[in-house]
Amino acid sequence: AKGRWNDIWLAGKTDSAPGTLFDKIIAGEIPASVVKEDDHLLAFKDINPMAPAHILVIPKDRSGLTNLRQASAEHTDILGRLLIAAGEIAKDTELGFGDGARIVINDGSDGGQEVMHLHVHVLGGRKLEVRYI
Ligand code: IMP
Repeated sequence: AKGRWNDIWLAGKTDSAPGTLFDKIIAGEIPASVVKEDDHLLAFKDINPMAPAHILVIPKDRSGLTNLRQASAEHTDILGRLLIAAGEIAKDTELGFGDGARIVINDGSDGGQEVMHLHVHVLGGRKLEVRYI
């Protein structure tokens, strides 16, 4: 059964990492400029944009997905959803995207990840340099 008691039962079992500010954004406790939302994911503008258009796409349920290195087959559905949403966002001219975008996942400390809740960066709005580091 899904619901509150299920949430309580699962708390801390599926992912021992502490919550982040993204949980507060999902809960509506911290305001965000939301551009896309469904039952599974949330997309909102990055507060410190690194390009003219910079959107973050996150799973609402982070279970086991603090970062991509923890992903396994059980995450196939949500990972597909995140990438499809990123692709849809990347062609939204109203968000400032032009002919293309860069989709980035910073994974873990060495990868530059600061918020420990898997998120996909969608960057664009100008021609980006070919540069990965
Ligand atoms: P990371 O470095 O890949 O973990 O990316 C975290 C991103 O979250 C950074 O680009 C931050 O600018 C962004 N960020 C941090 N706090 C907020 C917020 O409150 N709203 C929107 N974006 C945020």
